[in-house]
Amino acid sequence: MSLPTPYSRATDAALIEGCISGDRDALEVLWQRHGRLVLTTIARTLDVHGRGDAREAPIVYERLQKKVVKNGASPLRRLGHEASLRHWLTVLAHEAASTHVEDETPAVHLMSPAPTPAEILLDDLVGLEPARDVTQALRKLSPQIMAILRFELRGLTPREIAGALGTTEEILAGHLDRTAQRVAEISAEPTDRGLASRLWRSLLGCADVSERVALALLSEDDPAVAARREHARRTWAAVRERALSVPQPHSVTCLDDVSLASFVAGMRGADRARAEGHVTTCGRCADAVASVVLHLRVVPTLRAAEAHAESLAVAAACAATDHPRPAVAFAERAEREGQPRADEVHRLAMARRRLATSLGELPRQESSRVVARADLPTDDEAPLLAFEALITGNVSAAAQALDDHVAKRLVGARLRLLALASGHDLEEARRLSEQAITGKDPDLRLDAEMVLALPAERALPRELLVERMVDLLPSLIRLTLSRP
Ligand SMILES: [Zn+2]
Repeated sequence: MSLPTPYSRATDAALIEGCISGDRDALEVLWQRHGRLVLTTIARTLDVHGRGDAREAPIVYERLQKKVVKNGASPLRRLGHEASLRHWLTVLAHEAASTHVEDETPAVHLMSPAPTPAEILLDDLVGLEPARDVTQALRKLSPQIMAILRFELRGLTPREIAGALGTTEEILAGHLDRTAQRVAEISAEPTDRGLASRLWRSLLGCADVSERVALALLSEDDPAVAARREHARRTWAAVRERALSVPQPHSVTCLDDVSLASFVAGMRGADRARAEGHVTTCGRCADAVASVVLHLRVVPTLRAAEAHAESLAVAAACAATDHPRPAVAFAERAEREGQPRADEVHRLAMARRRLATSLGELPRQESSRVVARADLPTDDEAPLLAFEALITGNVSAAAQALDDHVAKRLVGARLRLLALASGHDLEEARRLSEQAITGKDPDLRLDAEMVLALPAERALPRELLVERMVDLLPSLIRLTLSRP
């Protein structure tokens, strides 16, 4: 029987102590425990800057490893052993990747390229003007609403925003609703405000399920509504561009790396109130907080991938969290290394990429993979096959892949409901939804709520199907990784 390695069961605090005293074993365990989160954070940050391949991230990671222990591990000394090591390393990884991009990119490329005359014309038509009006209107709102919107623009969910700003989801929804009404007022004629406020409520994430279903159906039926929505979406995208691309000055009151980490980890008391006051008014710190919250979304997937190789774990974590480019790149690396499950994680990463582009439409020749099979898939491969079939719009193949046995598992049940509701059997979809709506799982309940909000004879609109599939993908990835 072999002895456990030193520090393998040590707390993070003991690890930090060990690293500070120069113990190599402690350092090794530190990277074993948190290295994948650091590497994934770097890969995701590089991807945000358009550098989504798998080559640069390990270089930045190696540099960061050296930095943490330099000068007698002085950065770790600053951290102290009370703070959350995981959160702090995430902050450092994000900063290291951002700095790398700045250093490696000629200054001229960091500024947005000068628009060509055609683009200027296009922008004038579909965003710039309304975006300026909207931005000006938003500036007049309270700092707290600005902070909320900044988080919203960064892609945080209402729950994450409420958590970060120490408020409740109900209060948050109230703020977002008032903002949506305000934007609707300034961006639409009085006769048109009803639709405008519905569009903006949906864009700002404060519309309820029945509103969202109604709006999706209306867009399917009425090209004019679809065009209005697209216009509002582009306006909001332009507001985001404006808000997030403006460099935010650093001030003396800005949170340092340790405070940022503690803030996201749930700092309390007077420190919390002070930090919250600052984050609410400082775009720079709000952005930093938002980034860390987003990076930490990968943790459940990394945990599910613990028994797998690093490349595969990073691929899975990126695929589960809206970063298909590094997901595909790291999955390809895992395939070259001959890692088990690499082929499936690669397919999942590709599936995520398809969902991200034009609502997942596929060229025709790629869409017959499932139908062409004569034999039924095994229970293990059925959910992935069904997922791929749903992306291609082959709802019958998706439904057929999921027999009763597979549908007993949550992922199978959700996929089957989505396949039925997308046109395979609308009555059966309703029947299943009525059962599921009283069930325990919140995700399946939300799927069911959407199905029940549909009028009879109407299939789930494609945009809502894609949304539910993106929501389901992390569970499917974790299921794939956990199979023996
Ligand atoms: Zn600040």
